[in-house]
Amino acid sequence: MPSPTGLIDLRSDTVTHPTPEMREAMYRAEVGDDVYGEDPTVNRLEEIAAAKVGKEAAVYVTSGTMGNIVSLLSQTTRGQEIICEAGAHIFVNEVANLAMFGGCQIRALMGHYGAMDPDEVETAIRTENVHYPRTALIAHENTNNAAGGTILPLDYLAKIKGIAERHGLKVHMDGARLFNAAAGLDVEAREITKHADSVQCCLSKGLCAPIGGFVAGTKEFAKEARRYRKALGGGLRQAGIVAAAGIVALEKMTLRLGEDHANAKRLAAGLAEIPGISVDLGAVQTNIIRLSTVEGHLTAPELAAKLKGKGILIGPQNARAIRMVTHYYVSAADVDKTLAATREAMAAGAK
Ligand SMILES: *Cc1c(COP(=O)(O)O)cnc(C)c1O
Repeated sequence: MPSPTGLIDLRSDTVTHPTPEMREAMYRAEVGDDVYGEDPTVNRLEEIAAAKVGKEAAVYVTSGTMGNIVSLLSQTTRGQEIICEAGAHIFVNEVANLAMFGGCQIRALMGHYGAMDPDEVETAIRTENVHYPRTALIAHENTNNAAGGTILPLDYLAKIKGIAERHGLKVHMDGARLFNAAAGLDVEAREITKHADSVQCCLSKGLCAPIGGFVAGTKEFAKEARRYRKALGGGLRQAGIVAAAGIVALEKMTLRLGEDHANAKRLAAGLAEIPGISVDLGAVQTNIIRLSTVEGHLTAPELAAKLKGKGILIGPQNARAIRMVTHYYVSAADVDKTLAATREAMAAGAK
């Protein structure tokens, strides 16, 4: 799709605008008061979402962060601990909200492409001891953003679920980009989420909805999540206006993510050939590319400034690291333009 801003915006897949079909669906959406459970469009979105992830019930939420926190609050009590990978969004990027609102702490384990070592996970589960918190839950992030959009293997997920069951723990999946994982593995999303008790999914990233996401699990989980959503100010009224776009995201936009993955792979392969740029191609499994510029060449902010002058936006993370993300508004031609501009900038900037 031609970019709605005229820029090639590779900073994130959150920059995606709603599609014309979404705007039409929003205009026509039937609505009601969702706090009374009377918004037919929200109810339909929740049914479609629950079916896609193979769970009894889903709850529409305002954002991925809200989805994660209501899922965690619903499955923990104060003084408990949860286990997740050290780069996880819930650990790094969610304002310590589980400590803030839930009185729990996070035990973060180093991962490999987003996957923890199952033996280390099992060892980290607390035994009963007067000194220790109790472990409540193990959290996954799939795809894993910090590791570069990597997909957690299904046998790994099965192994962690087995460990959790043996110890009476719940498993949560931060599936902000769950449908990218499903497209990357070429399986239905429920084949992934069957290894988790609860799942959070964003509809406002590569799926192009303007706002919102959902959480899903058992009926009992959904009831709790709805209470916490209300407590956090997420009880919305005629939310069908935005949920209508979410339905298009779920039914249509999930089917085309393979294009973004193909573009990301081609972009990454081209970048890897440019002198002064280093990319771990093995980590480029979906729509995210993490690259770095090497010593003696432009820094990440310098490259970002040069590309910005050509209408290309990228996300420098620090002096050397850069994230690029493909999405609906990044075309194959945009990949070519980005490669040409990067090649030129790096050649001109070699020190
Ligand atoms: C974006 C993201 C979130 C949070 O979503 P928001 O809608 O920005 O609150 C959670 N987890 C991961 C892995 C994400 O990439």
